[in-house]
Amino acid sequence: MSEYTKVLVAIDLSEDSSQVAGRARAIAGNNSAELHLIHVIEPLSFAYGGDIPMDFSGIQDEIHQQATQQLQRFAEANNIDEQHQHIVLGRPEVEIHATAEELGADLIVVGSHGRYGLALLMGSTANGVLHGASCDVLAVRVGKHK
Ligand code: AMP
Repeated sequence: MSEYTKVLVAIDLSEDSSQVAGRARAIAGNNSAELHLIHVIEPLSFAYGGDIPMDFSGIQDEIHQQATQQLQRFAEANNIDEQHQHIVLGRPEVEIHATAEELGADLIVVGSHGRYGLALLMGSTANGVLHGASCDVLAVRVGKHK
């Protein structure tokens, strides 16, 4: 089996992120692969754009700044250098696919909560990333339903 050369780990900056990144680091280390980190910021206009006649740009900038700082701290703690940190605006699954393709990643690592019932029907980011990915995807089971 060929080894992975570029691993892209997607984090939502929640408390599960360390577990997901830890697994990605181990795989990258075993394969001597590059490790890249991505966090996607969802524009507020996606959620409220059509409904609330309001300018979100100030709040959106503030969210961007906060997320960038958090991602930098997380990357430092996980030994991931600046050129390998990606912060993007958009829908998580779309941007994770696009960045994986741009980088030529051969493995995407995401967290998965193992949802059931209604939450399962509504889908998850892990599902979205799996469908349509052009490389391998590893879903690391996180959260209380492990
Ligand atoms: P979810 O299905 O939203 O609970 O998220 C499960 C996993 O998808 C997380 O552990 C991350 O790996 C990934 N993910 C969710 N949201 C984002 C985001 N905004 N940016 C990057 N990855 C994300």
